[in-house]
Amino acid sequence: MILVENVHKVYPDGTRALKGVSFRIEKGEFVGLMGPSGSGKSTLLHIIAGLDKPTEGRVLVDGKDITRMNEDQLAEFRKNNIAFIFQFYYLLEDFTALENLVLIGQLAGQREPKKRALELLNFLRLSHRANHKPYQLSGGEQQRTAIGRALMLKPKLILADEPTGNLDLEEGKRIFELFLELRDKEGITFLIATHNQEMTKYFDRVLRIRDGLLEN
Ligand code: ADP
Ligand code: ADP
Repeated sequence: MILVENVHKVYPDGTRALKGVSFRIEKGEFVGLMGPSGSGKSTLLHIIAGLDKPTEGRVLVDGKDITRMNEDQLAEFRKNNIAFIFQFYYLLEDFTALENLVLIGQLAGQREPKKRALELLNFLRLSHRANHKPYQLSGGEQQRTAIGRALMLKPKLILADEPTGNLDLEEGKRIFELFLELRDKEGITFLIATHNQEMTKYFDRVLRIRDGLLEN
C-alpha cells in the first residue's frame, strides 16, 4: 500500500527533517509512527499524503508514484485514496456535525451524501450529536466527527498525526478501537503518528523515528 524509498527532506531554511527513510506497509496493516517531538513524523506523513514533496527519494501509494504527480493529479489521487486526520480537528465551526460530513460528499459530487453521513455518524455513535456544532461537542466527539468526515470519500489509506493528542486516555482508546474496526471491516490501511505509549499495544507494528532516520 505504501512504499517509501530513500526519502530525504531538506526545508528551505536548511533543516534536514528526513535523512534517507525507507519502509513498506502492506494493505490493511495498522502501523504506528513513534518518536520524539521534532524527529520528522509530521514531515513524513505530509509527504506520504502528497501535501509536501521530498527533496530526494520516491513514495508509491497503491503502486502510484505520488512524487511525480502535479498538483491536479495529486488532488484527484488524494480525494480517491487518502484521508488525513489531525490532532486539532479543523471542523467548520458554523456547521453541525452532520453538515460537516455532508459538505464533503456534496463537493465530491456524491449522489446521496446525507444518507452516507447519517450511516457514518451512526457507526461513530454520534447520531445523537448530528445537529450539534463543534463547540457543543467534547474533544472525543469532535475527533469522531473529523473521522466521519475523513470516511465520507471511502479512503483506502488513513494517515493520522497525533489523533489522540488532545484527548484523555479513555477517549483516545475509543478512537483507536474505531480505527481498528475500520481496518477489520473495510480493510483500510493506517499509519498513525503518536507520542502516546499507551497506544503501542494496538499496533501491528511500530516504526520508530529519531532525528530524521528510522531506528533498526
Ligand atoms: P515531528 O512531527 O516528529 O514533531 P516534524 O516533522 O514536525 O517532526 O519536524 C521535523 C524537523 O523539521 C524539526 O526539526 C522541525 O523543526 C523541522 N521543520 C518542520 N517543518 C518545517 C518547516 N516548514 N521549515 C523548516 N523546518 C521545519
Ligand atoms: P508536531 O510536533 O505536532 O508534529 P510541529 O509543532 O512540529 O507539529 O509543527 C506544526 C506546524 O509547524 C507544521 O505545519 C510544521 O510544518 C510547522 N513547523 C514546525 N517546525 C517549523 C520550523 N522550524 N519552521 C517553520 N515551520 C515549522
